[in-house]
Amino acid sequence: MKRTLFVLAFGIAVPLCAQNPNSGNGKGPEDLSGYSTSAPPMLGIHWARDFTPNGRVIEDASPSNGAKARSPLMTYHGGKIMTTAVIQSIFWGTSWGSYTGDKITGIDSFYTGHSGSNYAKTVDEYTGSNGQVGATTTFPISTITNAPVPHVIDTTVAAGGNNSSVILAEVCKMVPSPDPGGNGYYAVYSDVKRGNAGYCAWHSAGTCGGRPVQFAFFFNLDGDAGCDPVDTSGLHSQGLAALANVSAHELSEARSDPASPGAWYDASGNENGDKCAWTFGAPLVTFTNGSQWKLQGEWSNAAYTAGTGYANSSGQKGCLSGL
Ligand SMILES: [Zn+2]
Repeated sequence: MKRTLFVLAFGIAVPLCAQNPNSGNGKGPEDLSGYSTSAPPMLGIHWARDFTPNGRVIEDASPSNGAKARSPLMTYHGGKIMTTAVIQSIFWGTSWGSYTGDKITGIDSFYTGHSGSNYAKTVDEYTGSNGQVGATTTFPISTITNAPVPHVIDTTVAAGGNNSSVILAEVCKMVPSPDPGGNGYYAVYSDVKRGNAGYCAWHSAGTCGGRPVQFAFFFNLDGDAGCDPVDTSGLHSQGLAALANVSAHELSEARSDPASPGAWYDASGNENGDKCAWTFGAPLVTFTNGSQWKLQGEWSNAAYTAGTGYANSSGQKGCLSGL
C-alpha cells in the first residue's frame, strides 16, 4: 500500500488507491495524525491479517462487477532495486537489555540463512536502474574484530511505528557508518506492542550522513493474533516466528522496491510481499543454514505468467513459497 502512504507523507494526489486507509474518521489505522510532512514514506506496510484498509485492492483479472480488468502483474517504475543487502538488526527498547528469549539469536539466524536461499531467489527476477536483485546478503564487518555484526542493541525507550522519521533517526544513531554502497538494510525491532495499529511492520528509505539507507520497523508481536503466521513447528517461540514472517515480507519488498522513485509494484501499489501476504505455500521453508521458518510466499510475475505459483488471497497463482 505504498500509494496511500505517499499521499499521507507528501500530499501528492494520485489517481489510484488514494483514499485514507481508514477514511471514516480521517485518520489512518496506524494513527498518522502526528506524521511529519517530511518523513520518509512508509512503503510496503504489512497489514495485520484481520485488517483490510479501504484502499487495499488485490488486482482482479476478472472482476465480477464488470469493472475493467487490470493486470495483477507488478510493473517497473524507474527506481533502483537492491542488488545485495548489508543487513543489520537494531533491537530497540529497554526490555532487550535483560532479554533471555530466542528472538535475537533467531533473527540473526534468519538473516544468515536467508542469504542465498531459494526463498531469497523468489525476488531475483526483478531488475532496476542499478542492476538486478541478487539473492546474497551480508552483515556489516566490525573494523575492530573483523567479525560480522548482525545486530546491535539499544536499551533506550523505544518508539512505535507511527513516525518514520523517528525510526530513521534511530537507524542513523545506531549505524554511524552505513554501507557506503547504499545497500544498507536496517531492521528495527521495537519492544512496543502493536496496540490498535492496523499493521505489523513496514519498510522505508532515507539517508544517514548523506548515505542512502533502507530500513524497516517491526512491532513486538508476542501474543498478537493479527500478525501471527501460526507456526506450529515448535522450532521457535511464537513471537520469533511472527517476526520472521514479517521480516521475510519486508526484506523482499525492500529488495524489489526499496525507495523513491519506486521500482516494482502493481496498479494498486501492492509490492511483492503485499500480493502474497498471509498466504503460505508450504508448512516450513528451509534456509541455507538449515533453519526453518513458516513464511508467506512472494509474488513472482514470471510464476504468474507461467501459471506455476500458488494462489494468493485473490486466487492469482503468482506466489512462490521459496522451497
Ligand atoms: Zn508490504
